[in-house]
Amino acid sequence: MSWIDGKTRVVGLIGWPVEHSMSPCMHNAAFQARRMNWVYVPLPVPPERLKAAVEGIRALGLRGVNVTIPHKQAIIPYLDRITPEAQAIAAVNTVVVEKDGTLWGTNTDAAGFMEDLRAHGVAVEGRPVLVLGAGGAARAVVYALVRAGAQVTVANRTVGRAVELVRHLHTVLPGRTLRVVDCSPSQLAIEAERHTLLINTTSVGMWPQVDASPWPAGIGFGSIETVYDVIYTPARTRLLRDAAAWGCQTIGGLGMLVRQGAESWRLWTGESPPVEVMMQAARDVLGV
Ligand code: NAP
Repeated sequence: MSWIDGKTRVVGLIGWPVEHSMSPCMHNAAFQARRMNWVYVPLPVPPERLKAAVEGIRALGLRGVNVTIPHKQAIIPYLDRITPEAQAIAAVNTVVVEKDGTLWGTNTDAAGFMEDLRAHGVAVEGRPVLVLGAGGAARAVVYALVRAGAQVTVANRTVGRAVELVRHLHTVLPGRTLRVVDCSPSQLAIEAERHTLLINTTSVGMWPQVDASPWPAGIGFGSIETVYDVIYTPARTRLLRDAAAWGCQTIGGLGMLVRQGAESWRLWTGESPPVEVMMQAARDVLGV
C-alpha cells in the first residue's frame, strides 16, 4: 500500500462478514490503473454497530461505501436521503458522502445489470422476459427490466413473495406489464414457449450446489434464445450449461457484479470507470 499518504481518499465496504468480498480487489485495481490516490478497504460492521458505523463514515471523511449483507435495508433510516432506485429496490448498496457531510444511498445493481445486458447486445424494450426468483437480486433485475419497457413474468418457489414484489413495483412504476406464475414444470414449459429471454435470480446452482438448476429437467427451453444467470460462482452454472446445449446464448453474473461496482466507483470519483480492469481483477480472484 505504498501509495497511501496524507491525501489518500478512502472508500470501502460495510457488511458482516466482508472477508470474502471481491470488491476491494476490483476497486483498488481500478484506482491503481488510473494512478489515483484512493483506497478501498473492507470494513466489518456487526449489525448492532451499524448506526455508529454510519456516523463514522461521516466523521472520518470517507467519500463513500458499498453496503452488503446484512445492512442493505437496515442502513436506510440512517441516511439523509435515498434515490428512487434504492426506494424501488428497497435496498442500498452504495452510499455517497457529499462535501457538507450529507449521506445519500442508492442501488447500482439495476444499472449494473442493464449495462451488462447492453454489453452483450441483449435488447429488452417491449420484450417478454421470464424471471426466476423474487429475492433481493430479483427486485433489482425486475425493476431494471420493467423500467426499460420489458414485459416481465416472475416465477418463484414461494409465489406470495413474487406477488409482493410485483405489487410493490406496480406502485413504483404504475401501468407496466408485470405478471406472476407458479414455477411448476408444466407452467414453465408453457412460459418457455412465450418468452425468448430467461433470467435466473435465484441462488439455485450457486457454489457448492453446482449440479442444481432452477430450471426443471426434461422440459427443454422452448423458444428461449438467451439465458442470463446472475450467479457468478461458478462462472458457468448448470442452468447455463444446459441452456447452451439447447442452443441458447448464455451470460453469467460476473458482468453484473463488476458493472454495479463500476457504477459505484463512478459515483464516488466522478470519473468513467476502467471496467475491463475491474473485470480482469474479478476474474483473477475467481480464477476464471
Ligand atoms: P435471496 O434474497 O435470498 O433470494 C433467493 C431466491 O432464490 C428466492 O427467490 C428463493 O425463493 C430462491 N431459492 C432459494 N433456494 C431455492 C430452491 N431450493 N428452490 C427454488 N428457489 C430457491 O438471495 P439474493 O440476494 O436475491 O441472491 C440470489 C443469487 O443472486 C445469489 O446467488 C447471489 O450471489 C446472486 N447475486 C448476484 C449479483 C450479481 O451482481 N451478479 C447480485 C446480487 C445477487 P423463495 O422466495 O421461495 O425462498
